[in-house]
Amino acid sequence: MNTNDIYQTLGVSGAVLAFGEGVLSTLAERFGAIDANAELGQAKVLAAMQKNRVNATHFAATTGYGYDDAGRDTLERVYADTFHTEAALVRPQLVCGTHALAVALSANLLPGDELLAISGKPYDTLEEVIGIRPSPCSLAEYGVSYRQVDLLDDGSFDLPAVRAAVTERTKLVHIQRSKGYQTRPTLSVAQIGEAIAAVKSVKPDAVVMVDNCYGEFVEPTEPSDVGADMCVGSLIKNPGGGLAPIGGYIVGTQRCIDRCAYRLSAPGLGQEVGANLGLLPALFQGFFLAPTVTAAAVRGAVFAAAAYEQLGFRVVPASDEARHDVIQAIELGSEAAMCAFCKGIQQAAPVDSYVTPVPAPMPGYDAQVIMAAGAFVQGSSIELSADGPVREPYAVYFQGGLTWPHAKLGVLLSLQKLLDAGLIQL
Ligand SMILES: *Cc1c(COP(=O)(O)O)cnc(C)c1O
Repeated sequence: MNTNDIYQTLGVSGAVLAFGEGVLSTLAERFGAIDANAELGQAKVLAAMQKNRVNATHFAATTGYGYDDAGRDTLERVYADTFHTEAALVRPQLVCGTHALAVALSANLLPGDELLAISGKPYDTLEEVIGIRPSPCSLAEYGVSYRQVDLLDDGSFDLPAVRAAVTERTKLVHIQRSKGYQTRPTLSVAQIGEAIAAVKSVKPDAVVMVDNCYGEFVEPTEPSDVGADMCVGSLIKNPGGGLAPIGGYIVGTQRCIDRCAYRLSAPGLGQEVGANLGLLPALFQGFFLAPTVTAAAVRGAVFAAAAYEQLGFRVVPASDEARHDVIQAIELGSEAAMCAFCKGIQQAAPVDSYVTPVPAPMPGYDAQVIMAAGAFVQGSSIELSADGPVREPYAVYFQGGLTWPHAKLGVLLSLQKLLDAGLIQL
């Protein structure tokens, strides 16, 4: 069986395969740089695991209170050392990224404090956490006020406006690294560093929290290397390496992390409780795999960008732009094209490949959302997936791929479905 036959079996025509190979022939140098970065990330994680003497006793399950859980404590040291922070909270009890962000915010903001977002409107699900859209138990309900500084038209920080917006009341500053469901560029670690410096120049004790979702291991450094007091993310994205079945992380200063632990469990209990329920092998091994899994996803994103760019679609980032997260936005211009694209991604999946994704309402989102995912872990978006709110500019957000060949197949099948629907010509 040759490659052509294999792809035929999976539903990719010779024409689409040839188009894809043509696109790929231009990307060798790019892929080399992605792999070099993965090597660096792998070394960071390995060094942290070796320094903390990870051993088989750390994989033991604990139950109940989880007192003296050496494995859990060691995993948290490994995260802290990889991100170069004083402390880390890495728990299956942080049920998703939004929860980790909500804990980080509510632990470090008190009534009367102000939360200032300086990368524009935060991720959709945070609107209810903050109270931008009213919700029971929002920060607004607890008397935390909110202000926002938008990014400039080119997607960079408005540093003069940031300096002007920081006041005595500004307790916590929110920065979102990834574009989320927006078609702005993702922020680089270097840009984030400059923005943090601007905030601290006005108020050195302002706590800066970076929503690091989708950004981990994409660059050689993390926001915690450039002054962030907290970095927050989800274990069913990059740092879980596809193996973590649940969880979130917060890394940062001891002071901030202590407060997060008190908020997550209870004042007085903090980090001392929280059984690992037997999940530590997956959390350790997933973190070990995370740099190369992230690289596979970045390769997929670059391939998708190059292919769709060649067909005349607007893609963010462009295929030759530097990457700061694993997300590829592709503006497809119509609901039909979004549906065709997602159909292709779904058909490429190892799980649920036979189902057809359709737009539907989603909790936390104000438009209907279409999602394609056939994942081993429900909702895991480091696994190959595509989604997007069905509204202008009809952009799909493509991400993940635990292996590069799988990400490649996903892109090829998305092209196939658009071709079959008469929405593109090769
Ligand atoms: C995914 C994501 C979140 C929320 O994570 P969930 O695990 O879906 O709750 C927050 N911010 C950004 C930028 C994200 O990409």
